[in-house]
Amino acid sequence: MTFHVHPTPLGVTLALALACALSPVQAQTDGFSRCLADLQPAALAAGVRGETFERHTQGLSADLTVIDKLNFQPEFRTPIWDYLAGLVDEERVEQGRALLVQHAAVLAQVQEHYRVDPATVVAVWGVESNFGQTFGKYPLVQALGTLSCLGRRQAYFRGELFATLRILQAGHITPERLVGSWAGAFGHTQFMPSTFERLAVDFDGDGRRDLMDSVPDALGSTANFLAKAGWQDGRVWGWEVRLPAGFSVAGQGRKVRQPLSAWAAAGLRLADGNPLPAGTEPAGLMTPAGANGPAFLVTRNFDALYSYNAAESYGLAIAHLSDRLRGGGPFSTPWPTDDAGLSRAERREVQTLLTARGHDIGEIDGMLGDRSKTAIRIEQTRLGHEVNARAGQRLLKALRAEVTPSSSSDPAPRS
Ligand code: CA
Repeated sequence: MTFHVHPTPLGVTLALALACALSPVQAQTDGFSRCLADLQPAALAAGVRGETFERHTQGLSADLTVIDKLNFQPEFRTPIWDYLAGLVDEERVEQGRALLVQHAAVLAQVQEHYRVDPATVVAVWGVESNFGQTFGKYPLVQALGTLSCLGRRQAYFRGELFATLRILQAGHITPERLVGSWAGAFGHTQFMPSTFERLAVDFDGDGRRDLMDSVPDALGSTANFLAKAGWQDGRVWGWEVRLPAGFSVAGQGRKVRQPLSAWAAAGLRLADGNPLPAGTEPAGLMTPAGANGPAFLVTRNFDALYSYNAAESYGLAIAHLSDRLRGGGPFSTPWPTDDAGLSRAERREVQTLLTARGHDIGEIDGMLGDRSKTAIRIEQTRLGHEVNARAGQRLLKALRAEVTPSSSSDPAPRS
């Protein structure tokens, strides 16, 4: 679950800057402790007992890195082909298929109970937490405590802080285990604490709703989320389609629905050239990269996937991964770019090649963080590529070409 970041109002930046300028760290620490203490009556009114509140907030320090995350403004929008190349790569498909087999029994029970099929549930798991391998590293009370007292949207984060304290109070998860994203999404399902309270379930029946350490609870909770979001069993999320020549996509979108029969009459076909399924199921036309990229007719089931993150790119990643888990192939229509995105294996290869050129990019983890981006800029400048800190196939091929044994060119200067 992603917390969507909007540009920072200047006032907040100034207020924070002033607070920092005046202060010795002490002033800020005092201010933070006071702010937290002042939240106790509201916490009490929200069902957090005094002893719970004190135990988890006493001596808590602010983590200003979460405010940096809140205020972060991406320099450019990540192209959808980069998102999808990393989120739906062969590694994730293979792992997901193995997990479908490993957890077949519990997934069958989940389907029987919530009417959501195994591939869809496992696809959400894969996109949200890389099947439980990427939880985030921020202690939740500290991150949400900081966001409750500093920065924008404090009222929202206070609600999430109180939910977190209620979860701890109820003993679902131990405080040491409760880590997550900077904004408070945690566990296999990356639920926000308030979402946990509404939708997490105890599927293994041990009395606790444990989204950190129980795979059955995580899979059941994901299916419960989708069921409550309107998922209809036995139906698909949608189809990749082929548009007729000259078809205008202006004004079309996920929610601009027409019956399939109307789309068929307008000349749309499945991506493989076959006719659309018969019938009048309502579907909207989504063209995330415009009329020249892959096009999709999406049903109400796509809206259920969309609601998990409120982003079409993530919804499409889950949808596509679920199809790949069922044995489907990559999209038929290529993305409209001459510099396609990289899988995570290829991102790690870029990092290895950057390290070999003397850049200190830290751990080779496929994440392409700030240090990788700095190195990418240097290499793009040297290679005469567009300098945008983005790694795609063009950069990977250029770096590979320089290390092939047959290459006769001198090693480039170390940075
Ligand atoms: Ca449980």
